[in-house]
Amino acid sequence: MACMLACQAHLVSALIRLGILLALSPVSLIPVALIPALIVFPNLASAEDFLLCKPDQYAFSAQQRLQWEGYAHDLLTQLAGDDLSAFFGFSPIIKVYHAREANAFAQSPNQIFISDALINTVESRNEFAFVLAHEVSHLYLQHSSSDRPLQRLTSANELIDQELQADANALKMLANAQLSAQSATSILRRVADQGRFNDDVLENSAALRVRIEAIERWGSH
Ligand SMILES: [Zn+2]
Repeated sequence: MACMLACQAHLVSALIRLGILLALSPVSLIPVALIPALIVFPNLASAEDFLLCKPDQYAFSAQQRLQWEGYAHDLLTQLAGDDLSAFFGFSPIIKVYHAREANAFAQSPNQIFISDALINTVESRNEFAFVLAHEVSHLYLQHSSSDRPLQRLTSANELIDQELQADANALKMLANAQLSAQSATSILRRVADQGRFNDDVLENSAALRVRIEAIERWGSH
């Protein structure tokens, strides 16, 4: 509901501003006046609007999954430039899947999986950028486990260590793109607070707290 209201508010404000502009313009100047209007007015199909307009329902349709995969790819290019394979050494492939838990993981050599529940949990472009930057960092740093809850090949300490390394690298990517690091703690805290974990993910809740504390420590230095 909140999403729908936000979209309508955008549309209404754009229409009001267009109306004012037309009212102030002599009729002969209307086509000329429209040119700056089209440039200045918010593009309703921009990434931010897209994020605000995500569906409230739980599971995404196949088309919504495709849209989000495309948006995620665009967001990655904002973080790393147009040539992702030159930047990372591989070309990331993003897959949105259905799950009741907010989760994301990376799978070697180049795949990033994000649950629709996690997308429903993010509240800003910056938060989504952090999620993507964190996952792509696991691949970039060639981590063995990469967030898979059932993964038992690495010890708990190693897992936490890899999480912190991926967070540190993600924050570096965000900083390079002039995006706020605040989004990192806000999304991690929201996921931790959801409490929508199954048994295997329960320990991830503790890991999330450790990550939040570490990011806050780094930020205070
Ligand atoms: Zn991770």
